[in-house]
Amino acid sequence: MIDTHSHLNFNAFKKDCAQVIGRSFSNGIKAIINVGSDLETSKRAIELADEFENLYAAIGLHPVDTGREVFDFEIYKKMAGNKKAVAIGETGLDYFHVSDPKLIVLQKEVFLSHIKLARELDLPLILHCRGNKQEPYKPYYKMLEILKKEKEIKGVIHCFSADLEIAKNFLELGFYIGFTGVITFAKGFDEIIKELPSDKILTETDCPYLAPALYRGERCESWHVKFVIEKIAQIKNLSFVETEEQTEKNAINLFKLKI
Ligand SMILES: [Zn+2]
Repeated sequence: MIDTHSHLNFNAFKKDCAQVIGRSFSNGIKAIINVGSDLETSKRAIELADEFENLYAAIGLHPVDTGREVFDFEIYKKMAGNKKAVAIGETGLDYFHVSDPKLIVLQKEVFLSHIKLARELDLPLILHCRGNKQEPYKPYYKMLEILKKEKEIKGVIHCFSADLEIAKNFLELGFYIGFTGVITFAKGFDEIIKELPSDKILTETDCPYLAPALYRGERCESWHVKFVIEKIAQIKNLSFVETEEQTEKNAINLFKLKI
């Protein structure tokens, strides 16, 4: 089991981060990627990766935070030079939390800088995308339009929450599709997951957020990824072990994890 998107670097885990990491590894987790959302949490992700075996880091400035903090390319580039920094992100477009047109332009600029950084360092991107209620898929199409112009870029669209057609577009660009505990309780995912090739699916928690059905409302932890694997196995009519092995292989391939 691999949790390809966690935030053990966030304050929700400030007091018991080491215990949560220990609990996850003793519950069958083989690797965790901690994802940064700004400078501070990116630094923390690197620190944790330096400290714990099989813990990796992704560094980036979340689209929601682009109005609050400047994306300093050189500082992030230096951080990404760490051996255990395996991805750039999370980055992307978020029209759910951000509606100011100026900030939307800024989001795109910062997103393009992340793409540039990923290309320079030959690292995959971890993409975040969220639309508003009226136009839930609008930023997905915008993102696809941007990515289509960019060459030699790979990555994952994390916490996928659009439709099958959009998922297929990402697959065509060589991207993986990431699923969280949301698939254990929300409708509409079975149909998408059924159609996706097993070798393009990544498992994640986005902890402390998005706890699976059994733990809804509680703080999510990395080992909850087992419920995501269980659900994918059920939808695809595969065994848990088959699904676990395949999704581990996918994460190892994309992020070049050395586990
Ligand atoms: Zn996240």
